Amino acid sequence: MRLSEALRLVERMLAEHRLCDSCLGRQFAALGYGLSNRERGEALKISLLLEACLKAERGDRKALETVRTLAVNGGLKAAEQTLEKLGLKPEVERKACEICEDRLSEVEKLGRMAVEELEPYEYESFLVGAKIPARIVEAEDELRGRCSISWGENIKGEFTREVGKVIAKLTGKHVEFKNPDVIVTISPYSSQRRVTVKANPLFIEGRYRKLVSGIPQARWLCGKCRGKGCEACNWTGKKYPESVQEIVEKPFLAQTLGDEADFHAGGREDIDAKVLGTGRPFVIEIKNPRRRTLDLPKIAEEINSSGKVEVEGLEITGKEAVARVKAAEAYTKTYQITVEADKPVTLKELKRLEEFFTGRKISQWTPRRVLHRRADKERVKTVYRVEAKRVSRKRFEASVKCQGGLYVKELVDGDEGRTKPSMAELLGKKLKCISLTVLKVEEEKGRRRP
Ligand SMILES: [Zn+2]
Ligand SMILES: [Zn+2]
Repeated sequence: MRLSEALRLVERMLAEHRLCDSCLGRQFAALGYGLSNRERGEALKISLLLEACLKAERGDRKALETVRTLAVNGGLKAAEQTLEKLGLKPEVERKACEICEDRLSEVEKLGRMAVEELEPYEYESFLVGAKIPARIVEAEDELRGRCSISWGENIKGEFTREVGKVIAKLTGKHVEFKNPDVIVTISPYSSQRRVTVKANPLFIEGRYRKLVSGIPQARWLCGKCRGKGCEACNWTGKKYPESVQEIVEKPFLAQTLGDEADFHAGGREDIDAKVLGTGRPFVIEIKNPRRRTLDLPKIAEEINSSGKVEVEGLEITGKEAVARVKAAEAYTKTYQITVEADKPVTLKELKRLEEFFTGRKISQWTPRRVLHRRADKERVKTVYRVEAKRVSRKRFEASVKCQGGLYVKELVDGDEGRTKPSMAELLGKKLKCISLTVLKVEEEKGRRRP
């Protein structure tokens, strides 16, 4: 496109549309480097004005019409002054830009608002997003359609880039598209909160041990009030006063000043089961953290001083760790159990138990105790190894290594025939699992270590 062609197009657009410098310049975004759209638009308007002035000098009366257009629809001060100089006082009515409604003139203000909102946050990189109403986007599409403009940046891109420039200039932080620390969302057309800031979550992985029984893994809301607080839960909103999740997340939230945390773990143990040995893998996700620099040894120390939960191997990780840790549910587990029988158990019987269950496939229908919240279906899981030790006439301990997802209590008592075969069935006695501890959660052979 030649400059004269570009100027004809500008003339045509301004004859019918009121456009600010930015919205005009954006339609020519491919023209020239190192210019903002506002500068580009202003330069085009001035070029057109100079051309019209030269034509007017040669007596071209039509050129004055162009100057008037530039003053009225282009809002160009120099065009207004030119008309004045020629003794032609224009009736310039201040009307807003047809596309952006003059909001693009507020990018500096929006940028300053963002910097204020960013004040509580620790961040190195940011990204700006924008909420632009459909009517604005449509107005631009319509203009392009009518003026046969096939290419141009869209208005949203202009808002986000320009506000980003302001923030970068004021803070010295940089824009990052892939994984920014914080996201600034601007709503230039909203009457309420025009700028909001949210930090991307932090992910920390590690392994936990639950040293005591009686606490659930996750926060457990009161079933009566669903967390609101009622007489039944003594106005705590919770069925259990604490959980592994709450003990672990507390120092994280204190250090990061995050809004809340999600706790993702590789499977879960029953309330009355402990987790010992190498522990269970987990990832904690801190939502909207104000601080991103963590003192992990201090956090571990605080958690460990609870005497109930211990963590180790804490390290900062990424979002992808959540899926990896959740897959650990299917990993091989080793449990330590204590079993009580209704009749004496002999050493010979325990030997038989060990031999029988080595490499044994177990069919389990959903245990009765969880039927109220899980679908009734059959699953087949493998027991890899059982090592049993008699501790008294009617009591023995065993370590059970099995596939993740096997219900161990039911493997012991048979769940009224819903788990087959079971230890109770094999020994022909009533058996009850009276304690259960998770000793190890490890990946299947051939799978990569987490
Ligand atoms: Zn505009
Ligand atoms: Zn309640």
